[in-house]
Amino acid sequence: MSGFDQLRLEGVGRRFGTADALADLDLTIERGEFIALLGPSGCGKSTALNCLAGLLPLTAGSIWQDDQRIDTLPPEKRGFGMVFQNYALFPHLTVRDNIAFGLRMRRLPKDEVRRRTEAAIEMVRLAEHASKLPGQLSGGQQQRVAIARATVLEPSLVLMDEPLSNLDAKLRLEMRTEIRRLHQSLGLTTVYVTHDQEEALSMADRLVVMRLGRVQQIGTPEEVHTKPATWHVADFMGYRNLLPVSATRVEGDAVTVPLGETTVNGVAQGEMNAGDEVVAAVRPEDVRLGSADVAGLKGRIEVVEYQGRELAVEVALPDGVRLHARTDRKVEPGEQVAITITPGRLLVYPSGDPADRPAAELATAGLAV
Ligand code: ATP
Repeated sequence: MSGFDQLRLEGVGRRFGTADALADLDLTIERGEFIALLGPSGCGKSTALNCLAGLLPLTAGSIWQDDQRIDTLPPEKRGFGMVFQNYALFPHLTVRDNIAFGLRMRRLPKDEVRRRTEAAIEMVRLAEHASKLPGQLSGGQQQRVAIARATVLEPSLVLMDEPLSNLDAKLRLEMRTEIRRLHQSLGLTTVYVTHDQEEALSMADRLVVMRLGRVQQIGTPEEVHTKPATWHVADFMGYRNLLPVSATRVEGDAVTVPLGETTVNGVAQGEMNAGDEVVAAVRPEDVRLGSADVAGLKGRIEVVEYQGRELAVEVALPDGVRLHARTDRKVEPGEQVAITITPGRLLVYPSGDPADRPAAELATAGLAV
């Protein structure tokens, strides 16, 4: 099947029994885009990918390649490339023959098969391993073969499901760059499933953040990182401090919320009124420590963790709430400190449903000095 300008998922859903593994997925993918589907385990990412691949029939909605409906086509008619976490290479074929396999199946002329196979081997930097069997390669090298095998056919879309999750941390980082480099040089439209927010942020043009089978937010890495649409997305994006509180004052998007024995200002991320139950979210990097003799928010250091250039600390507020903070000052457990929140970095989300609120993190009473 030839390339497309747009691939559209319209109201795509997949139900197992009475449970929606995926519901109401609307997404338009432009040719050449790198899209990451991101979310915690069980949120429906693989279901979405398998629906796209044609491995799982939809129970709702449709998928369109420009003006052609494709969700009714079997996987092989969609012509998409797939890379999964278990590389599924043919163990008895060499690297070269694994990569050439799909081209030969298409009965392309011998010269063309050779030319494209060698180019793909070069691209994933496996020239010196081309005559080896998969069993003689490292995990990262095997994954590169899988990627070459999927991309040598120049598919209109490449689907990747956690392709790096079996690799060690160092290789994962290398392969991230490698996949991004391949994507840029080949301009392949890619949909990439991961539960690793750093991986998604560093690789994708756009992220689709999912939870409980539904899209929470679609946006660029910067949008999702700096303006999470819900407190669940914020949670996933490293806003470790999630405080269920009631808003004291609301004026436009300026909200005041109680914290410790004082109040702090935040930015409303939706409609809210004074007195409403809300969730205030802030990253540890935006909670800074100063000396205790200035007025304002105060706390007592409970836990100090060395993290290279900075210390990660947990601070207990007078009301028992625990905040995660960062500092480059040398601090000790038990010390009283002043706490400053970077202006504009405390995001406040409406949270009408009492069941849908994070639990407050309370300081361990026994540690009180
Ligand atoms: P993970 O990262 O753990 O693979 P995921 O986000 O990819 O998770 P899915 O595999 O898409 O999640 O699963 C979404 C939901 O659908 C889960 O609750 C899962 O238990 C359910 N589910 C998936 N496949 C089936 C199936 N064949 N039968 C019944 N339920 C299923």
